[in-house]
Amino acid sequence: MVTAIGMISGGLDSTLALRLLLDQGVRVKAVNFYTGFCITETRRRLGGRTRDGEPPRNEALRAGADCGVEVELVDLSGSGYLDVVANPRHGYGANANPCIDCRIFMMSEARRIMEREGADLVFTGEVLGQRPMSQRRPTLALIEKESGLSGRLLRPLSARLLPPTIIEQEGRIDRSRLLGISGRGRKDQIALAARLGIDDYPQPAGGCCFLTDEAFGRKFHDLMDRRAERRIERDEIILLATGRHFRLGERVKLLVGRTEGENAVLDRHAEGRWRLTTPEHLGPLALVEGEPDPEQRRLASGIVARYGKGRAHPEVRVHWSRAGEELTVAVAPLADEGVLERLRL
Ligand code: SF4
Repeated sequence: MVTAIGMISGGLDSTLALRLLLDQGVRVKAVNFYTGFCITETRRRLGGRTRDGEPPRNEALRAGADCGVEVELVDLSGSGYLDVVANPRHGYGANANPCIDCRIFMMSEARRIMEREGADLVFTGEVLGQRPMSQRRPTLALIEKESGLSGRLLRPLSARLLPPTIIEQEGRIDRSRLLGISGRGRKDQIALAARLGIDDYPQPAGGCCFLTDEAFGRKFHDLMDRRAERRIERDEIILLATGRHFRLGERVKLLVGRTEGENAVLDRHAEGRWRLTTPEHLGPLALVEGEPDPEQRRLASGIVARYGKGRAHPEVRVHWSRAGEELTVAVAPLADEGVLERLRL
């Protein structure tokens, strides 16, 4: 019997790939990688809720349960992955997404799991030409080679457009029952899902990874461009994904919470930073990184005041605290949209 390691996100493509192999009698062990940049999973871990007030579900676990397949959750968010994000050999996509290096990293890990489990191959739900950076034909080949999976990486949805894997050549998987889908459209996948009776899958949300988000990318590059040594810590990722960010000076940055949840996240990261609140009005919690000069203090205070309930008052008192130091800045809430936009990351 053929045994395969399936890289499953729970999205439609990887679910279809899984079903195509299960329908051929392949024994599958699924893996789901958490990079620390997965939007839904990060929100789930930070206690976020959906519109219905429920915790977001882990779609990979749900898809595995629907198909009767065991899913191993693998946390890749350690320093090795962060080093790839900070120093990708193959560069970034449109934002902060190092998709080629990321896929090589993930597939190398999948290869290790394949070897550990004595499995025959790794498969994914990738579709040739679906994504501009990582799913072009030469890139698919490069990723396969650099992850050490040459001949052992199957993409069931596009298999008939790609060179046959070893298992197909041996006739242990019937290539004629695999597909030849390519491109960005989803018509073929939706039709196949209907034929297979698959109706519970998440709609493509236009990005499930913070690194592909334009605003996150701006904040990420702003941070990295100011570093002598390119590196990033896990806590910094959480902060990059939290709140409105304003660059007040080369080494001074303001982070303003947008929701109660974000205020709580910022509060947990207040150590070593200035913590700003407006005690006389309901308002956001904010952090200032660096050593602001008096003008930057006024600016930060004006921005924080602007986002609180005191925004219509002529003057708001903003409380600053850091490691036992305390001060109060009384300012008019910043009204000038132009200044705000210029400073916003
Ligand atoms: S979008 Fe790119 S960087 Fe993000 S998880 Fe996918 S491959 Fe990795």
